[in-house]
Amino acid sequence: MKYDILIIGAGPAGLSAAIYCQRAGKEVLLLEAYMYGGQIVNTPSIENYPGIKNISGFDFAEGLYQQAVSLGAKVLFEKAAAIREAAEEEWKAVDTTAGHTYLAKAVILATGAKNRHLGLEKEEKFLGRGVSYCATCDGAFFKGKTVAVNGGGNTALEDAAFLSNYCGKVYVIHRRDTFRGESKVLEGLKQKENVEFILNSTIKALEGEEKLTGLSLEKKKISTGEVEQEKMHLAVDGLFIAIGQEPENEAFSNVADLDAAGYVKADETCMTKTPGIFTAGDCRTKKVRQLTTAAADGAIAALAACEYVDKIL
Ligand code: NAP
Repeated sequence: MKYDILIIGAGPAGLSAAIYCQRAGKEVLLLEAYMYGGQIVNTPSIENYPGIKNISGFDFAEGLYQQAVSLGAKVLFEKAAAIREAAEEEWKAVDTTAGHTYLAKAVILATGAKNRHLGLEKEEKFLGRGVSYCATCDGAFFKGKTVAVNGGGNTALEDAAFLSNYCGKVYVIHRRDTFRGESKVLEGLKQKENVEFILNSTIKALEGEEKLTGLSLEKKKISTGEVEQEKMHLAVDGLFIAIGQEPENEAFSNVADLDAAGYVKADETCMTKTPGIFTAGDCRTKKVRQLTTAAADGAIAALAACEYVDKIL
């Protein structure tokens, strides 16, 4: 099966790229391992996308998907496992874990990033039994209960704000006393009576036998290393881990250089070290990972890929 441009990942970057490629008259295949929309589907409310005052992440993703599909993009739910040079000159071959191979003249990596784990014992065991990485997906299971959110970025703050509408008590546990997340959300949280901040604190252990019942925390100033309290017990029914994302690009390191953290290196046209292989969105080395920058990357990578395809024709 041959396409002009194959896009790996149907998040905001990949879908935006698909829209631009289709509008440029190219035939596009999008490969998505899980569900279209990427991480934005977990955001209850988007208020910083230019031109849209307020929209849920789910509705935004749905609109983007419908737009790409209505323009003719084909979406297959298969996980891309490898990219290699095809036997035919100028074509790239993309193998999937489903055992299929698709050929394209150009490929755009828009693989996004996955949730970072704390790496604690029982973290996997308690997944769905008190531990979650998605407040909007699982928050409703904790109505009236006591939960903790771990992290200090926008995700943690927004998760805490969302959960405070359902839960009896929300602890925000952060390893510093300053936050990366937007001050507007932080200030809103400070006004909530059922939200309590536990700062300079790290989760050392998850407590419970069959499900999560509590956390063991260490209170330590990250700047000085001074330990204020070695073991602090906190009873919780749920823990929402929101400590950032990690890329998943190792499978493509033969065609694209990765930085030390595993993000794809690219030039300002979003092209990797291999001509015809482009990248867009959160999976790429960059400073600002936002919905707007993902969409912008999608457009840049798509137009560069279209130019590349036109040149080799
Ligand atoms: P993030 O901004 O990378 O923040 C991760 C947080 O987790 C940081 O506070 C970090 O602490 C902490 N952390 C990392 N590893 C940890 C560990 N092992 N133990 C304890 N804490 C740890 O991640 P994010 O909040 O998921 O956001 C990702 C990107 O999406 C950001 O660019 C963010 O702005 C964007 N985003 C935007 C919106 C929006 O605009 N509405 C919503 C959600 C996300 P330190 O501060 O100490 O490093």
